[in-house]
Amino acid sequence: MHIDAHVHVYPPEIEKNWKKIAETEPHFGTLCAGKAHKWGTVEAVVAQMEIDGLDQAWVMGVAFRDPGLCRLCNDYVMEALKKYPGKIRGLAVVNPLTRDFEKEIVRCREAGFIGVGELLPYGQVFDISDSRETWRLAAACQENGLFLLLHVAEPVGRDYPGKGGMGPREAAAFCENHPEVQVLFAHMGGGLWAYETMRCMKLVLENAWYDTAAAPFLFGPEVFRAAVAAGAGGKIIYGSDFPLLCADRYEKMFLASGLDEEALSRIRGGNALALLEKARSFSGLG
Ligand SMILES: [Zn+2]
Repeated sequence: MHIDAHVHVYPPEIEKNWKKIAETEPHFGTLCAGKAHKWGTVEAVVAQMEIDGLDQAWVMGVAFRDPGLCRLCNDYVMEALKKYPGKIRGLAVVNPLTRDFEKEIVRCREAGFIGVGELLPYGQVFDISDSRETWRLAAACQENGLFLLLHVAEPVGRDYPGKGGMGPREAAAFCENHPEVQVLFAHMGGGLWAYETMRCMKLVLENAWYDTAAAPFLFGPEVFRAAVAAGAGGKIIYGSDFPLLCADRYEKMFLASGLDEEALSRIRGGNALALLEKARSFSGLG
């Protein structure tokens, strides 16, 4: 099973009106104006899946502050689930500080969504290390048997559009505050996996998973071997960040990583399935 766990799509209304939307969603404007930015539709995802030989794409919109725009993205993903059952799976975007966002999570779960994300703490302006701002989100994910995909970034190195200020420290605090939620940290967790080598952190990070999104822009291929050596080999999940990047760049990295086929096949899909199973097993749905 070959799975891409981090794929963005943009409803046509959002692409058409992005400049207007950017006036009230500055983080979205910054992303769109970045030179690496690309637009992507569900049809483009399905066409790329053919080229890349993917069995499943886990698809999501963009996390906005405005719940109405989040809902628009979720509706678009919902349509895609109906059109491509089994091939496209959905993640819901919500603003976890707004009223009734839990209802949107339930609506999406009932439509077959498997997760919540990719939430953008820097743009939606919430602090993932502050349990006063995350407890409702954590409860809603756990109750519905959904994993949570959070954007985090490495706290060192160059700045780029959409990097944001949340990194391993805040991500570790989230794990400690909410051990009942399975959290997929985007972009190799900004390096959070390295702390799996600390005895006192191993247990704290039990619910942490790491996706590879944008890794070709950020790291050398040795990052994957290092993460496996740190004990995180069962928690690294392939995600392309499509339309930003496609599988070819990652495959080059995987082949250069020095990892064997077994380790790579876990990254390409096995670990993603394990994440779903674990999220479901912690659910309040019974
Ligand atoms: Zn991200």
